[in-house]
Amino acid sequence: MGSLLPENERTRHRRLRAQGSRERGDLDAILAAGFVCHVGVVVDGTPLVVPTVYGCDAGTLYFHGSVASRSLVAGATDEICVTVTHVDGLVLARSLFEHGVNYRSAMIFGVPRAVTDPEEKIEGLRILTEHSSPGQWDYARRPNKKELAATTLLALSLDEASVKIRVGPPDDSDSPDAELGLWAGVLPLESRWGALVADPALPAGIEPPEHLVRLSDTEAG
Ligand SMILES: Cc1cc2nc3c(=O)[nH]c(=O)nc-3n(C[C@H](O)[C@H](O)[C@H](O)COP(=O)(O)OP(=O)(O)OC[C@H]3O[C@@H](n4cnc5c(N)ncnc54)[C@H](O)[C@@H]3O)c2cc1C
Repeated sequence: MGSLLPENERTRHRRLRAQGSRERGDLDAILAAGFVCHVGVVVDGTPLVVPTVYGCDAGTLYFHGSVASRSLVAGATDEICVTVTHVDGLVLARSLFEHGVNYRSAMIFGVPRAVTDPEEKIEGLRILTEHSSPGQWDYARRPNKKELAATTLLALSLDEASVKIRVGPPDDSDSPDAELGLWAGVLPLESRWGALVADPALPAGIEPPEHLVRLSDTEAG
């Protein structure tokens, strides 16, 4: 067994507890498999759940946006909850009540920190870029001073997090519904990168870089 996620009143699983995992490795794998999270934040009494790109290293999740973003500015000082979700399939049971989803999901709680140190900001943006668009940090033009000033980068510790994972067939094979003679099982869902599509404005002779060619047509996550 690897290291365990610390548990507190907020992260303790209550319902569907069998799907809960406290393995730190499961959290890391869920974060590594995606690059879009949902940031839940209350702004002026109104809950906002904002989808945004993230990147992470061993202990920190980074996300960014415009300095004008209400959710990011409010999020910089308040408790937030970030979720990352991967849907792996539909669980099609004999009864609609037992229908469900195979999934991997993580919830991370805390107060994010606005990254203002210039070196840390560049490093956080590198981590975010390499997580969401691998290979592009060294290929594309990096942010200039003006672009950096227009960007809020937030860092959220991964210390307070929970994980849930559902795998496998429906749960009603040993219920009276098994006698109904209905098909039951799982319809898997996969994410894949497609073939690269060049910008129509691209001048002739500019070929895609090797790291993007390698990534295209592969499984995502
Ligand atoms: C794609 C998807 C679809 C789902 N559909 C349904 C549905 O239709 N009906 C349903 O009842 N449930 C569904 N779930 C499960 C749902 O996310 C909750 O786990 C479940 O409803 C229990 O919620 P709760 O607040 O009562 O859990 P509690 O056990 O009371 O939550 C306590 C703590 O457990 C942790 N936790 C709870 N859920 C999750 C999670 N999903 N991921 C990581 N940590 C978690 C959090 O830290 C939370 O604060 C779905 C999950 C996913 C990912």
